[in-house]
Amino acid sequence: MSTPLADLHVPDHYRLLGVAPRATDVQIKAAYRKLSRVYHPDAQGGSVVAENCFKQIASAYAELSDPAKRLNYDRMLMLRDPLRLVDDPRAERALDVLDTVVTRLRKRQAALPNAVQGRDLRVEHPLPFAKAMLGGLTIVRAEYTVSCTPCRGAGTVEPTRNPVCHVCQGAGTLKTGLRRHDARCGFCDGRGNLLLAPCASCGGSGQVLTSRDVEVSVPPRCRDGAHLRVRGGGEVLAGGRPGDLIAVVRLQPHPFLRAEGDDLICQVPLTWSEAVAGARVPVPTLESTQWLTVPPGTPPGREFRISGHGLPISGNIGAKRGGLRVQVFIDMPADLGPSQVAAILALEAQLGAQRFTRAVAYRAAIGSQEPSSSAT
Ligand SMILES: [Zn+2]
Ligand SMILES: [Zn+2]
Repeated sequence: MSTPLADLHVPDHYRLLGVAPRATDVQIKAAYRKLSRVYHPDAQGGSVVAENCFKQIASAYAELSDPAKRLNYDRMLMLRDPLRLVDDPRAERALDVLDTVVTRLRKRQAALPNAVQGRDLRVEHPLPFAKAMLGGLTIVRAEYTVSCTPCRGAGTVEPTRNPVCHVCQGAGTLKTGLRRHDARCGFCDGRGNLLLAPCASCGGSGQVLTSRDVEVSVPPRCRDGAHLRVRGGGEVLAGGRPGDLIAVVRLQPHPFLRAEGDDLICQVPLTWSEAVAGARVPVPTLESTQWLTVPPGTPPGREFRISGHGLPISGNIGAKRGGLRVQVFIDMPADLGPSQVAAILALEAQLGAQRFTRAVAYRAAIGSQEPSSSAT
C-alpha cells in the first residue's frame, strides 16, 4: 500500500541531484559525486533499487553538466513548472539527509485503529454441478496478506542501510504545480527512504500472502451466484476476531444434465439401429452412470424416467429425490453420399408410405398441395 496521495511526481533533474535550480557547475558535480557514493550499484552489492536510482541520477547529471543541454532543460522546466526555478528553500540542505542514519522506517501501511476485527473475504468458488445439486462440503482457499514477521511490516531488517530520500528529504512528498500541492515523491515512491536492503521474506513490501483452507457447507440445489458465508473463515488478525469467508458460487454446468423443477433432464442421442433394434445406453447421473434399456422401435422424443436420481426435493441432504428424465433423439448423419441417399430411398420405398404413420397423418390433416406458382 502506498501513501494516500494518488499523484506521483517525477522529480526534475535538480531534485534528483539534490541541488537548487541555480546551482553552479561545481555544486552540481559535487552533488553527483556524493550521490554516486551512495547509489552506485558497486557500492550497494548490486541492489536493483540502487541501480535504478543511480541511472536516474547519472542521466540527470549528463544533461545538467552540458551547458547547452542545461539551458534547454531550464527552458523546458520553466514552462512545465514556472515556480520551480525560484522556490526551493530546502534544496540547499537536501544532500545533508544522506549523512543522517535511518533508525526507524515509516510503515507503508498505517495500522488500522483498533483493528481487532479481521476483514471478510469474498472468494469466487467454482462448484461442480453434482456437488451444487446434492449439497455437501467443499474446501475453499482463503488468501489474504499479513504483516511480514521478520521485518514486522517495515520492509527491511537493516534500517540503517536504507538512505533517507534526498529528493523529498524523507517527507515522501514533493511540492508541485502552481498551487504547490503535495504529490508522492517519484524517487522513493512516497516511502521517504530508499529500500536498498529489502527484507528477504517479503521483498520489501512488508506484507506476505498467506492462505488457509476453509470447509464450506453447500446446501442442496445451490444456485449460481449464491453467497455461502462461513463465520470466522476470513482474515485473521493477531489477537483479534477473524472475519468471515464469503464463497460466491460459480456453478460449473454439466455437459449433459440440467435441472428442471425436482427433476434432471438428460438428452441422449441414439443411432438408427439403436432406435430400430433397441439398445442398452449409458446415462450420467449426479453420482455415477445408470444403464437404460431402449426398446426396439423407439421414436425420437420418447422420454424415460429413472426414479430417485433427480434433485433432493426438500432442502436437506439425503432427502427424497425427483427423477432423471431421459429424452432420446435420433442422431442424423450429415453429408450422406448419393449412393447412401439412394439406399435410404430404396429402403423407404420398400417399407411403403403407410409405414410412416405420423407423416402420413400430418399430410392428411394439412391437406393442401403446394401451389405450382411458388415452386422454384
Ligand atoms: Zn522521496
Ligand atoms: Zn519483511
